Amino acid sequence: MKNQEIKNFLAKLQELDDFAIIGHINPDGDTIGSALALAFMLESLGKKVELWNLDPVPELYHFLPGVQRFSCPQAGDWQGKNLIFVDCSEPKRCGDEILPYYRQASTLFNIDHHISNKLFADFNLVVPERAASGEIIYELVKMSGVPLSREIATCLYVTIVTDTGSFRFPNTTASTFRIAAELKEAGADTETINHQIYEEIPPETLAVLGYAFAHFQYSPQRKVCWLVLDKQTLTRLQARDEHLEGIVNYAKAQKGVEVGILLREAEPDLVKVSFRSKKAVDVNALAQIFGGGGHQRAAGCRYRGPLTEAEQKIIEQAILITEGAGA
Ligand code: 5GP
Ligand code: MN
Repeated sequence: MKNQEIKNFLAKLQELDDFAIIGHINPDGDTIGSALALAFMLESLGKKVELWNLDPVPELYHFLPGVQRFSCPQAGDWQGKNLIFVDCSEPKRCGDEILPYYRQASTLFNIDHHISNKLFADFNLVVPERAASGEIIYELVKMSGVPLSREIATCLYVTIVTDTGSFRFPNTTASTFRIAAELKEAGADTETINHQIYEEIPPETLAVLGYAFAHFQYSPQRKVCWLVLDKQTLTRLQARDEHLEGIVNYAKAQKGVEVGILLREAEPDLVKVSFRSKKAVDVNALAQIFGGGGHQRAAGCRYRGPLTEAEQKIIEQAILITEGAGA
């Protein structure tokens, strides 16, 4: 990321006021932490900021400072706002419901690290080499001269720890560690953050995990492992979207498995799919076949159609890509 690019982006933000920051649906640590840190930065610069998301913030992240400020935008809210998308490869990642409205905003900004980003805004700051969108917000904060407060450091640390799987995924760079070290020095309480995120697993997630271990399915060469969660099962386990965070990693993190996939029935004809890979397979390319995207090692899509059809089509493609035509 070139300094000049950040400088220009920041200069444009500094020129304007009355911002709304929006993150993607089914929000994760990166989209929430990035939005909050950016809001704190802009407010330190004297700007008015609102925080928007169409979905509620998962309980897991309720310990973050400012998290109660997220609201769902109404039809009349968009006009005149300067809208900043964070961690969204395209506007529809914030929910199809925003599509009739978001162009009513005055200026569109896009801060993201997805390789599949569509560069849809008036001003785009997209850096796929960054492990989390939060790393890009970190650069903006540094450049702005706003002090790295404990609140900002906490939110940014969460973006990094969640998007790197606690510094395990291959997106973790030397610079990721350097930023993390600085955030800790700035007051991010890493012990509390790790406790909140990894040591308060809700019973619903445990119920899903129990189900998952009994129901994983495998391709002929066992390089693809997948789990199907239909609506009835999810209801029986009392599991909502936020309880499924991380389940797909257990599909991937098995001996010999290269690609892990989770298919969950959100509505009768809508299937949410998560893809993870270890190293050989580009799951961003796989997700894009089905209209989704993400990163090479973590991606997703929404399949419109029945669950059985989604499973058949998506798993067939995944096996083809992973094990070849002869499998
Ligand atoms: P997850 O599986 O955790 O929901 O998402 C993994 C990655 O894929 C994230 O970086 C996320 O932004 C991206 N992703 C998930 N679902 C979709 C989708 O429907 N469309 C696109 N473009 N990206 C997605
Ligand atoms: Mn992210």
